[in-house]
Amino acid sequence: MALEEYKRKRRFEETPEPPPKVEKKSGNRFVVQMHDATRLHYDFRLEMDGVLKSWAVPKGPSLDPADKRLAMQVEDHPVSYFDFEGTIPEGNYGAGTVMVWEVGTWQPLSPVPVNGKYVPGTPVEAREMLAKGDLKFRLNGKRLKGDFALVHIKSRRGGSKGNEWLLIKKKDDFAEPGFNAEQFDTSILTNRTLDEIGGDQRSKEWHSDRPASTRTKPKAAWLADTLARVEKKRRRAITAENAAPSRARKPRRSSTGAKKKPRSSRAT
Ligand code: MN
Repeated sequence: MALEEYKRKRRFEETPEPPPKVEKKSGNRFVVQMHDATRLHYDFRLEMDGVLKSWAVPKGPSLDPADKRLAMQVEDHPVSYFDFEGTIPEGNYGAGTVMVWEVGTWQPLSPVPVNGKYVPGTPVEAREMLAKGDLKFRLNGKRLKGDFALVHIKSRRGGSKGNEWLLIKKKDDFAEPGFNAEQFDTSILTNRTLDEIGGDQRSKEWHSDRPASTRTKPKAAWLADTLARVEKKRRRAITAENAAPSRARKPRRSSTGAKKKPRSSRAT
């Protein structure tokens, strides 16, 4: 069942996105990816039951409790999507550049507050809250922290397709009125901008003048593993680029008639 839709929508011989594999073990990570597709949006994903439960948030998450951010639930993604950063080629589902905007861990909260405060809940409660359409959780990331809720908007007769939710920050010490997601425009994993990820040859080279978050020693073991893997992937991609015959710099969105990239040089 899970990941069928993910699989159906993609051509894996063309997209650099990871294959549809359901993990046996579930961690408790979350990721927000900035996705420069037809419309720029943010993809909010929670690791749960061996997949990443996913919502597309047009305006991005907010730490301002006054913001109720529309979040369209989309198909579950494989856990290995967690650190996917790169460009989905034109003509493919979700074509455009993906940047890892935020990573961290999450924990379910109790469905009801105790003495006015939400306390940690269980994975079983999280599953039930998700099914009921009112999932409360706590995020521990770099840019996003504190308590949140994802609330399903009940579909009206003949109205929405039923995939509309609201992502809402709860009032707590991490609430930040006037929060603007756009203040952060670089990858939390590689410190690159969308343009640098999706852009020309030079973008694939490491910017040593700007220390990336990958260079500081992460405290959490899971993050260290992720960063090591991302770095390895990047180096492999750079090596492949350098080995490939030189060609004209590619525009961010290749225009018609543009030379097709040789398959062998495609980053994994
Ligand atoms: Mn997306």
